[in-house]
Amino acid sequence: MRRTHTCGALRAEHEGTVVLLQGWVHRRRDLGGLVFFDLRDRAGLTQVVVEPSAADAFAVAQGLRSEFVVEVRGTVRARPEAQRSAKLATGAVEVVATDLEVLSEAKTPPFPLDAVGDAGDVSEDLRLRHRYLDLRRPEALQPLLVRHAVQRAIWRHLDAEGFIQVETPMLTRSTPEGARDYVVPARGRPGHVYALPQSPQLFKQMLMMGGLDRYFQIARCFRDEDLRADRQPDFTQLDLEMSFVEQDDVLEVNEALMAAVVREAVGREIATPFPRLAYREALDRYGSDKPDVRFDLELTPLDAAFEATEVRAFRGALDAGGVVRGLRVPGDVAAAISRKGIEELEAVAKRHGAGGLGWLRRAGDGFTGPLAKALRPEEQEALREGGRDGDLWLLVADRWTVACTALGAVRLRLRDVLGIAVDPNDLRFLWVVDFPLLDQDPDSGAWTYMHHPFTRPRDEDLPYLESDPGRVRAWAYDLVLNGSEIGGGSIRIHREDLQLRMFRALGFSLEEARRRFGFFLDALAYGAPPHGGIAWGLDRLVMLLADARSLRDVIAFPKNQRGFDPLTEAPALAEPGQLEELGLQVLPTLDREATGADA
Ligand code: ASP
Repeated sequence: MRRTHTCGALRAEHEGTVVLLQGWVHRRRDLGGLVFFDLRDRAGLTQVVVEPSAADAFAVAQGLRSEFVVEVRGTVRARPEAQRSAKLATGAVEVVATDLEVLSEAKTPPFPLDAVGDAGDVSEDLRLRHRYLDLRRPEALQPLLVRHAVQRAIWRHLDAEGFIQVETPMLTRSTPEGARDYVVPARGRPGHVYALPQSPQLFKQMLMMGGLDRYFQIARCFRDEDLRADRQPDFTQLDLEMSFVEQDDVLEVNEALMAAVVREAVGREIATPFPRLAYREALDRYGSDKPDVRFDLELTPLDAAFEATEVRAFRGALDAGGVVRGLRVPGDVAAAISRKGIEELEAVAKRHGAGGLGWLRRAGDGFTGPLAKALRPEEQEALREGGRDGDLWLLVADRWTVACTALGAVRLRLRDVLGIAVDPNDLRFLWVVDFPLLDQDPDSGAWTYMHHPFTRPRDEDLPYLESDPGRVRAWAYDLVLNGSEIGGGSIRIHREDLQLRMFRALGFSLEEARRRFGFFLDALAYGAPPHGGIAWGLDRLVMLLADARSLRDVIAFPKNQRGFDPLTEAPALAEPGQLEELGLQVLPTLDREATGADA
């Protein structure tokens, strides 16, 4: 290697040393017959001075432009006191060049690298189109360094705990995780497709059946979902699985692992064990199964008080078996919320399924607002309890999940509207446990799995699997950090008979279960150990730890919000002959839509 140092290495103690640096020209300034430039690499910036006395170097320096790659040989010199830069690690010195060579010229970058700010003045697509330039910015590199540290910590910790890393196939059969599969047509078998894995779920379970005992993988997964703002079609999970364990064992291993990861990646200590919140309690108190518990503003159950209510909308909901839930915005801050503000909050509630958002303001001992006249004394009593003058009550009456989640969304919006300060450095991990096994589609009435079809029901709830499916609880758990779900897992079904019963409860015929999962049912029939595991959403965890703005910031080459890669322009039209070779044809209507998609 020709380099003697990186561009971040030189300090006052190097004074007088002859060094050879290579890197990019960050910025060039001509000053009183001297040329100055900052030389940049991953490690930092070093100021280089070229004096006219070094005639050849000086001539080269005059032609330098931003992003040229150069090699400098020179001597380290202490900068005069007044010219030291405290901002730069190398700010005490500069390199006086004796030789200067251009290794690569560069076109003018399509955006100035030092002008990408929070203001978003440079469009993200432009940055992604030239991601190799973008990554030269320390701010763009930083999240990838955190990501690297997270993965290193995972490897170290799990290796020491006896976990074996195993790679599972990319070209495989469907693994249901509730999304659509990305499929890959198989050239040799017309009409047949591989599916890209939504997760390594079935393989990791079969590794337990293979006796591996403790497995992990930092696995790429693929889910073809409608792209919401912050989602990537391919993403990374830390996937792990353990044999002969119960729920508490898995949670404990994960708590210790997370503590190691946070320590190594961001140098902070977190307290373990993490608090555990039952699913019901999470919804009742925070209106969410991934609550942000950094601020209070909890929901209040009002069913008992409103039992005999004459408020029409509430009456209907209660008669249909629903509930009334309220959110009390304390009087000292409630004044900041105007009529218009309430309308905006109502829109949030409606987006989350509520028919509307009732409201009341406390005035002395009474209440004002559209519902005030219809309030019965016991209702007023309940709304006064523990409150004060000026309180604003926001109310939803609906099915339990809808009432809770709608107010949960309003709660989050209030955090922003009221400017409730939440500290991104306050890492509040928690477990949500005691999930229901199944979830009912309110329209069709069909039952579907909450987690995936391999999750084990609680033994004591098994008798209700057919008669009262909604009552069955699962051995399932989610790991939550500051309002984001960053992991989820379960103890698995390890007996073929129960797995078949579960498929039946989900509406699969025996034929369909065998056709889709025959290989897995077979595996269960040859002696499967009790086992369970989890997967973390690694991208999201890194995003939160690195305090990055989006998932795209923690992925080296991400897709944009439309699932398109501006750099390689994927997805691209199939090459001529490719479809034919695969025996595929595109319907004319789809063809038109596709070509318009990202033009
Ligand atoms: N396979 C599950 C998922 O991707 C995680 C697990 O159950 O371990 O969500």
